[in-house]
Formats: sequence, structure tokens, C-alpha cells
Amino acid sequence: MFNKLQVTVLGSSSFLPTLRRSWTSLFLNLGGGDAVLVDAGSWRIMGFRKDVLYTKRIYITHNHPDHVGFIGALIRRMRRMRRTHPLKIVCPVNTVQIIHQIIRIFNHNKIPSFVQIQPFTPDIPCVIDWLSASRTEVRAAAACHTTLTAGYAFCQGDKRVIITPDTGPRCPTLLTMAQDANAWFHDSTFATGRLLSIRKGHSTPQNAGADAARANVDALILIHLSGIRLRNSRAIRAAVRLHFSGKLFIAKDNMTFNF
Ligand SMILES: [Zn+2]
Ligand SMILES: [Zn+2]
Repeated sequence: MFNKLQVTVLGSSSFLPTLRRSWTSLFLNLGGGDAVLVDAGSWRIMGFRKDVLYTKRIYITHNHPDHVGFIGALIRRMRRMRRTHPLKIVCPVNTVQIIHQIIRIFNHNKIPSFVQIQPFTPDIPCVIDWLSASRTEVRAAAACHTTLTAGYAFCQGDKRVIITPDTGPRCPTLLTMAQDANAWFHDSTFATGRLLSIRKGHSTPQNAGADAARANVDALILIHLSGIRLRNSRAIRAAVRLHFSGKLFIAKDNMTFNF
């Protein structure tokens, strides 16, 4: 019985946040008491008092500050709430050092004993974790970004949700992982119509639409957005629609999606 796969976008901005859009974090309520975060860049994670206590995993995509910036303050909050049960932080191998540094800065130069850091090397899609209460399989694959970066898939039976905040377009490993998924939360950093260089490791709405069509997903949710360019949401939708005719959402902070 797969009862729940709920995703709340806590932070929807790119590396240039605004007052309304904060850096990247997504909170996933998977049912059965399993709750996890993808990335810890948003200050909004500090508002989740009860859920913060019970979050079982933090899956970090990569070592850029807009994805790890609040992990130290979050763990301090957990420590002050006397959390004892384990919190696993799953991250690419080159992200361990910055996570250690940020946690130590906020926690008297120590890593609290409930924190376990589990590094891995993202590559072709493979299973990296299993959450037994919600029967959720977690997969990861390498994204196409400027540093070693993971994209994640959360799978419950036939349901599959893909989260890739930072990636260039046509990333073969992510396209494989996303094939026929229910939803893809996809990088959409750059402006409509701008021809994106893959060198920058980000996507345009048009790129995201093309990826969603290639992978044949049901729904595309644009995340990692540059707020200054969002005034023209009609143009963003039109750019996606050049390729993708499925469900389309432009994420805002605190938007919740149920699958
Ligand atoms: Zn990045
Ligand atoms: Zn980013």
C-alpha cells in the first residue's frame, strides 16, 4: 500500500534568491513517518519544527552554497531540540568537506553524534537507499553540472518522482532515470529564449520542456528559477510548450505537490 508521496518546494530560486524565493530545498513526506529533505539551501527549512525533528535523511545534490547553506543551522536546531535518533546525510563524495565545515561552524566545532554522513559517487542511475516504513526506493544518477552533482529519484511501486535542481540539458544519465516518471522537478535557471551553453551546467525552460518530452514524464515542475526573469511567466510557459504538452508548473516557495 503506497499512500503518500508529497513534495513541498521550500526554496525555488536559483543562486540569486529574492525575498519571496529562497535557495534550493525540497521537503518530501513519503508516508509511514518517513520524511526527507533534498538539499538544505533554503532558510525555510528552519520553520519546520516538528518535521525537522523527524526528517530521516538529507539528500544533498552538490557542494554549491545555494544547496548546502542552511545545513549547519538546521542541525543546530535539531541538537537543541534534543534529537538523538540518526540523521543520514547522503551526498556526493566531494561535498563531504563543505558539509563538515558548515556543521562545525554552527555546532561548537563538532559533528553531533546523531549525524551520519554517507558519501557516494553519482554515475549511471542506481539504487542508493531504501526507506522501509514508506517502502520508498531512492535512486541517484549523475547530473550534468559544473561540479560532481547528483539527481535523485523517489520510487514507490510504479510511482516515481525525479528531482534535479542543477543540471544542463540532455543529460543522458538523468534522462534514463526520468524515463516515464510521474514528475520531474527540473533546473530552469536561465531565461526563456537564451541559448544555453551546456558548459554552465544549467537549463532554460525550453531545455526543461525538451527533457520532459524526451523522458515522457507526466508532469514538469520548473525549479531553480531566476526570480528576476519570472515576471514573464507566459513566455516561460510558451517556451516549455514548444516541446512538452504534459502538466506544467512554475514552482514557488511553499508549493506542495501530491503524487
Ligand atoms: Zn550548482
Ligand atoms: Zn544551484
